[in-house]
Amino acid sequence: EKPQLLDDEEGGVLFLSSSQSSSSSSRYGYASMGKQRLPVHKYRTEILYLVETHATTIIVGETGSGKTTQIPQYLKEAGWADGGRAIACTQPRRLAVQAVASRVAEEMGVKLGDEVGYTIRFEDITNTSVTMIKFLTDGVLLREMMDDPLLTKYSVIMVDEAHERSISTDILLGLLKKIQRRRPDLRLIISSATIDAKSISAFFQPSKRHRGLEGQGLSPRKEPAILSVEGRGFDVRIHYVEEPIADYVRASVSTVMLIHEQEPPGDILVFLTGQDDIDAAAQLITEEARTVVKNSSGLIVLPLYSGISRAEQELVFSPTPRGKRKVVISTNIAETSVTLEGVVYVVDSGFSKQRFYNPIPDIENLVVAPISKASARQRAGRAGRVRPGKCYRLYTEEYFVNEMSAEGIPEIQRSILVSCVIQLKALGIDNILGFDWPASPSPDAMIRALEVLYSLGVLDSDAKLTSPVGFQVAEIPLDPMVSKIILSSNQLGCSEEIITIAAVLSVQSIWFSSRGAQKELDEAKLRFAAAEGDHVTFLNVYKGFLQSGKSSQWCHKNFINYQAMKKVMEIREQLRKTAKKLGMVLKSCDNDMEVVRKAITTGFFANACRLEAYSHNGMYKTLRGSQEVFIHPSSVLFRVNPKWVLYYSLVSTDRRYMRNVITIDPSWLTEIAPHFYHHQGPNPATH
Ligand code: ADP
Ligand code: MG
Repeated sequence: EKPQLLDDEEGGVLFLSSSQSSSSSSRYGYASMGKQRLPVHKYRTEILYLVETHATTIIVGETGSGKTTQIPQYLKEAGWADGGRAIACTQPRRLAVQAVASRVAEEMGVKLGDEVGYTIRFEDITNTSVTMIKFLTDGVLLREMMDDPLLTKYSVIMVDEAHERSISTDILLGLLKKIQRRRPDLRLIISSATIDAKSISAFFQPSKRHRGLEGQGLSPRKEPAILSVEGRGFDVRIHYVEEPIADYVRASVSTVMLIHEQEPPGDILVFLTGQDDIDAAAQLITEEARTVVKNSSGLIVLPLYSGISRAEQELVFSPTPRGKRKVVISTNIAETSVTLEGVVYVVDSGFSKQRFYNPIPDIENLVVAPISKASARQRAGRAGRVRPGKCYRLYTEEYFVNEMSAEGIPEIQRSILVSCVIQLKALGIDNILGFDWPASPSPDAMIRALEVLYSLGVLDSDAKLTSPVGFQVAEIPLDPMVSKIILSSNQLGCSEEIITIAAVLSVQSIWFSSRGAQKELDEAKLRFAAAEGDHVTFLNVYKGFLQSGKSSQWCHKNFINYQAMKKVMEIREQLRKTAKKLGMVLKSCDNDMEVVRKAITTGFFANACRLEAYSHNGMYKTLRGSQEVFIHPSSVLFRVNPKWVLYYSLVSTDRRYMRNVITIDPSWLTEIAPHFYHHQGPNPATH
C-alpha cells in the first residue's frame, strides 16, 4: 500500500493575489557574472540556516540574482542531497527547465543527466541513483505524486517562479502544504521575482489545529520564513510611443532597426506573444537588415519560444560575438524564467498570449491580451543587467498608467479545470471544492470540469474516478480528452493512428511557417490534405515522413518542421510504452479513417460545431453554448466548410477560430455521448 494523501478539509485559508505590485523596479542588473558576486551569494549562510530551521522559506529576489542556479547548489553543498535524497527545483516552463539545468551542470562541471538532471514531459534526463539536483516542470512533479504521493525521494522542494501563478504551481502549493504535515523532514522553498510574500506566507501559516506540534523535538518551525534578496542594478530608461500603434509586429521591427542604427552596442530583447508573430518579426528584421541597413552583418536575429531546437537555444544563451548585436525575439519566457546576458535594450509589445476560460459557454481561448504593470516592469528590468539600459514600450504612458491592470490573474482562475480535477482525484483528493487553494478557482469552472469528466466516463455519479477508464485516463500524461481517445482507440482498433495524432497534437506545429512563403506552405499542405480534416492530414504527413526514411530534406521540400517531426517520433514512442503498460494492444486500422474519426469523437464530442445554414462566410456554432466560431486559415478544411465538425482547440484574434478540425457524422454524438447531448434538448442530428 502506498501512502495516500488524505483530504482533510482544512478551514479555507484562501490566498488572492494582491493588487499591490512591488515597487523599486527601476534598478536592476548585476555587473558581473562570477558566482560569488551574484546577489544571492551574500545570503548563502542565511538561506541555509532558514531552510534548516523552517519548514517553508520564501525567497524573493530580482530576476538574475541567482535564485534558480545557485540555491540548489548551496543545498547540495550543505548535504541536503546526501543519503540518496534529491533536491527538486520546479519551473513553470519546459524550456526554462532545460536552460537552467544545462547552466547548473556547466557551473558544477558535471555531465547533464548525472548529478544535475532534468525532467519535462516526454523527456527524462536524470539518473535516479546519482542525480542530486533535479529541475522539472511543476506539472511533472504533480505527476510524480501519483506514484509517490509524499514525494519521499526529495529532501527539499524549491517551487520557483511562484509569481507566475501557473495552474500547476497553485495545485502544487496546495498539495505540498498537505504533504508537509506528514513529512516534518521535508523543506520547501518558494521563490519568485516579485511576489506578495505576505500572502504566500499567510497561505503556509499553520492553522490552529496543527499548531500544537510546533517546536517539538527536531521538527522545524512551521511559520514560514521570508527572505528578500537585495540586488544592486542599473537604471532603465523608459520610452513610450506618443500614439497608440496598430500593428505591434511592424512597430517592434522598426523600433529594433532604429535602435540598431542609432544606439551604441548592446543586445536587444523584444517581447512578442508566440511563434507566429515572433517568426514574422524575425523574418522582417532579417530582410530589412539586408536591404535597408548598411552594416547588416552586425545583426544576429534569434527567436525564443518553447518550440525552438536545442541548437537554437544554445545560440540564444551563448555570448554575443564581438562587433555583433544580438536581437532575441521572445515570448514572456524571457520575462523572468531565463536570464540573457548582454541585453541593454528591451522592446515591449505590451502583449502576451494568455488563457481565458468562460465556464458558461464553456469555452477556453488562447488570446493575445495586454500584460499587467507587474509584467511590464519585469520586462523593462531585463534591459539593465550589464549597464544602464533602455526600454521601448509600444504603448502610451497614459495607457500604462490608467489602463494596465496592476497584476495578472492566477492561471487557475482563467483556465479549464479538467486536467486539474482529474489529477487531484487521482491523488485521492475527493473534496475538490473544499481543497485548500492558494487562490480558489470559480465554482462554475469546477462544476463544468466535473461535468466534462463525467461525460467522458472518467468520473462516476459520485464524482469518483471510474475503474478502469478513470484511472487509465489519469495515468496518460496528456489532456484527459486526448487520453480518452487513446483509450477508445484500443476498442476501435486504431491505436497506432491515434497515438500518432496525439503526438502531433503535443508539439507546437509540424508545419514550417515562414512569412512571405504562405503560398508555398499552402501548396505543400495540399499534397497531404485529407477531406476528413487536419488529424487525418497529420497521418498522411507522418506516413510520408516514414517513407522518406525520416529525411530532413524531404521535410524541407514539403514545408514540414523536421525538429517537430523528430519530437513527434519521440513522444509517440513514450505514448506507446504507456499504452502497453495500460494493457492496450497496439493496432493499425490501415486506411479506415472512419474509426479514427470516431475515436476522436469519444474525447472531443463537446467541441462539436455545425455550419450555420445560411452562412456565406463559413460561420459555425458550437452545439453546446451556440458560440460563433470559424475554421482557422491554417486548417485544411478552411474554405471547405463541411457541415459538421469537431475542433481540437480555439484561438481568438478578431474572431474565434477552431484549430485542428475534423469532419464527423452527427449521429456519432448521440451514440457516443448521450449524457452530454441529453441536455441540449433535441438530437443534434435532427437539426
Ligand atoms: P534568478 O533565478 O534569480 O533569476 P539565475 O539563477 O537564473 O537568477 O541566474 C543567475 C545568473 O547566472 C544570471 O545573472 C546570469 O549571470 C547567469 N546565468 C544564468 N543562466 C545563464 C545562462 N544560460 N547562460 C549564461 N549565464 C547564465
Ligand atoms: Mg530564476
